[in-house]
Amino acid sequence: TSPGDVRASARKFTAGHARRGCQNWQNHSLHQTTMQKELPTYHKVYNLWYGADLSNTHGRRVQRALMLLSATMVLVGLAWGAFFYHLDNWPVVALDLLLVVGGLATASFIWQQKPELATATPFVTLFIVIGAIAWAFDSATPQAPRTTQLYLMPLSVAAMLAFRTSRPWLRFGAPGICLLALGILSLGYGSPFPQYALPESIKATGAIVQTVTALSLFFIILHVMQHDAIVRSALEIELLQALECSEFRLFYQPQLDSLGHVIGAEALLRWQHPERGLIAPGEFLETAEQSGLILPIGKWVARQACEQLRSWSQVADFKQLRVAINISQVQIRQNDFVPQIQSLIEEYQIPANQLELEITESMLVDDMQEVVKKMNALHQCGVTFSLDDFGTGYSSLNHLKSLPLQQLKIDQSFVRDVVSNSSDASIIRTVIALGHNLDMTVIAEGVETREQHQFLIDSGCELFQGYLFSKALPIEEFNAYVRSKLDVGAGEGNRTLV
Ligand code: C2E
Ligand code: MG
Ligand code: MG
Repeated sequence: TSPGDVRASARKFTAGHARRGCQNWQNHSLHQTTMQKELPTYHKVYNLWYGADLSNTHGRRVQRALMLLSATMVLVGLAWGAFFYHLDNWPVVALDLLLVVGGLATASFIWQQKPELATATPFVTLFIVIGAIAWAFDSATPQAPRTTQLYLMPLSVAAMLAFRTSRPWLRFGAPGICLLALGILSLGYGSPFPQYALPESIKATGAIVQTVTALSLFFIILHVMQHDAIVRSALEIELLQALECSEFRLFYQPQLDSLGHVIGAEALLRWQHPERGLIAPGEFLETAEQSGLILPIGKWVARQACEQLRSWSQVADFKQLRVAINISQVQIRQNDFVPQIQSLIEEYQIPANQLELEITESMLVDDMQEVVKKMNALHQCGVTFSLDDFGTGYSSLNHLKSLPLQQLKIDQSFVRDVVSNSSDASIIRTVIALGHNLDMTVIAEGVETREQHQFLIDSGCELFQGYLFSKALPIEEFNAYVRSKLDVGAGEGNRTLV
């Protein structure tokens, strides 16, 4: 197979998802704000199905699978519950009701956008219901074997897929416990409650139906997994070619102070795909990180940002602007990360304090000492650091004070509901006070409305970024945006602009 063929098949596999992903990015603000407040229920369900607030394909696929699973659990639970109600088999009716409750709870967690609970709930419910029915009511007899436990086979593979990005104990533990239970139940015989054992008439046909259904489910989930792996490896090849063909672009989203002056920009990566158009990073970053391609991509981003700072340094009205770039964990772990950045600063002769590196809390969990050493080395040259998505991860406040951070970036999930949700408002006020006490500036991202902006100003936040001001723009449009702001600021003044 030639790289061309693989690329073609990669496009075929991923085209649908990515087209939607690109649309998501463009309509992100619209979906996010309207989804929570104004839209009728059916419209919110529609948005959940299309994963309008999810930026990655895997996340959308899992959300859809969970929505289908929750509906199936409710329907199957009701149908079997009614059937066993007529047989007066109350313990099985109770387990069927548990299935219904688990399905409804899953739907509710999807509705509330709690992905971890939405994934764990159906898994735990199904494990309990399948295990209990197999152990207590579906005992093996000379006429028919025990078969209910076979559903644990597709459940174990589904858990592998759903917990793919979770911590190792969950990623390996969940499928492992399913297979262990499958083994134990397949070897066991009798039932502790013979009076409630399934009638022989049902068991004989049931054994065939259950075996066929469980194996079919197993086959379908294996197929989904295989498809997923093909798409990911095809995407990897496409990303490599995108690097070679210079298909990546850096967009700039303005950051403003409370007087409305543009003080700089966050550089955000885009993939200008020859056929699919502009693709947001959520579609390919996970694959880029897992394959290591984020390293050359990250180097390209840093070089572009320094080149841009260099070209702004030659223009009076632009020379104060700073650029923030996002650094991923794999990048900062490189042994030569510090010299890489230092040599770029030297090569482009730019003031290091105008280059800001955005890191996230998750980077500090594993190897904090090493990361802090690198941060300190770069900070000594003047480079500044901002803690991105603050509040969404795990941060020990004690550690926070020992980090060479100059800025905290309040995550957009808190900003989104700040006007309507009093706990989000308290969190924001606390983060601002915390940042100031630790001598850091505080920037809010995802500012979309005047009310959010006003609240943030009133709470003492100094810097702002969000669709209220501008989305991320190609460089020419960003420069024009800065000029338009200068025009407004200058009034009838007679500044000379580039
Ligand atoms: P981030 O660093 O938290 O960037 C903010 C994201 O929020 C951007 O999405 C931006 O377009 C979006 N955004 C900005 N204002 C608003 C708003 O008012 N409302 C809403 N709903 N969204 C807003 P984008 O560009 O899709 O980037 C997503 C994430 O991808 C970034 O999150 C960052 O973690 C990562 N990323 C982007 N560029 C790079 C890069 O060059 N390198 C690395 N390692 N990661 C990157
Ligand atoms: Mg960022
Ligand atoms: Mg962020």
